[in-house]
Amino acid sequence: MVTFLAGGTGTPKLLQGAPAVFDPAATTVIANTGDDVELAGHLVCPDIDTVLFSEGGVLDTDRWWGIENDTTNTHTEMADLANKAGFENTPRYLSADAQTSGRQISQWRRFSGVAEFMEIGDRDRAVHLLRTSLLDEGKCLSEVIEILTDAFELDIDLIPMSDDPVATLIHTEAGSESDTAQKRNEANENDETATELMHFQEYWVHNRAEPSIVDVEFRGVDTATPTPMVKTALTDPVVIGPSNPVTSIGPMIAMDEFDSALETTPVIAISPFINDRVFSGPAASLMKAVGFEPSTAGVAEAYSFADAFILDTADQTNLDRPVVRTDIQLNTDSDAKRVLQAVQTAFEKIT
Ligand code: GDP
Repeated sequence: MVTFLAGGTGTPKLLQGAPAVFDPAATTVIANTGDDVELAGHLVCPDIDTVLFSEGGVLDTDRWWGIENDTTNTHTEMADLANKAGFENTPRYLSADAQTSGRQISQWRRFSGVAEFMEIGDRDRAVHLLRTSLLDEGKCLSEVIEILTDAFELDIDLIPMSDDPVATLIHTEAGSESDTAQKRNEANENDETATELMHFQEYWVHNRAEPSIVDVEFRGVDTATPTPMVKTALTDPVVIGPSNPVTSIGPMIAMDEFDSALETTPVIAISPFINDRVFSGPAASLMKAVGFEPSTAGVAEAYSFADAFILDTADQTNLDRPVVRTDIQLNTDSDAKRVLQAVQTAFEKIT
């Protein structure tokens, strides 16, 4: 049995080589839900869906999100209508009151569908509609994801980190006088001093990671708990694929029970860096903002519970824990297989 912790790019890439090394029937993937948003009334779960689509054989692997060859007719029509109606093309938070009413799972991350700021494909949207309808019927997120994994005929188990809402919010230096910014800041009820706040998706997708980050908050995490299925999966050896330690793994380990489970189980982590060079995405600036060195050394510091690391052969970082080195660039299934064989070697080293 093995359990992977997944964000939206690194671990899904790694999983492409998994069947050659780990039995799919004995493989569980726990996905981050801090990046989820409610958009136009539909719950969008980017990290869960990348694994769902990838393992279901329909992922758009050029972008690593969405369904391959999907159309965007509804999204385009919505954008045209909003444009004709004179709306600014910018994310629009629902009012402060709406952030803590409606679907509990959507709290603190509820956006209007006017000027929809994420490009949602038509088939992709069908998944969000079905998911949200099942939630509205009274099912919890874990039950809904199980239904979707059956529909996409996954061989592995894919489960969300929690059935409770955890919203990854970025405090930034960027200011704005716009109506949307005002709504966003009204929604920031818990902290009257923070005036420039945006959901991670607004920071990453709409603002293309440009605003300077002051801090990262996982709103709701104090009362969120890992599900019973997650707790069981964390009793098996854990692999942390190359992930953003702040916004993909951060929301998971910010739950006390999750963090303490990792302390007691064997954990191998694959670096998303070679020395201080990140492969892709905003991991470096996010790590710097929360006080970690943006490098392999910083990842090791963030993962104090990890028992061993897989580093690139060109990575000269000296760590205080066992290391297995290989080429950690993941372009093909055979790259993923090679890295997972290194993971197996690392498990042998620590047990
Ligand atoms: P998301 O895409 O933002 O949801 O983030 P993930 O948590 O999946 O993070 C992706 C991380 O994987 C980034 O920090 C990248 O540096 C890293 N990454 C991307 N491609 C590769 C690769 O080919 N090899 C390795 N080792 N890391 C990678």
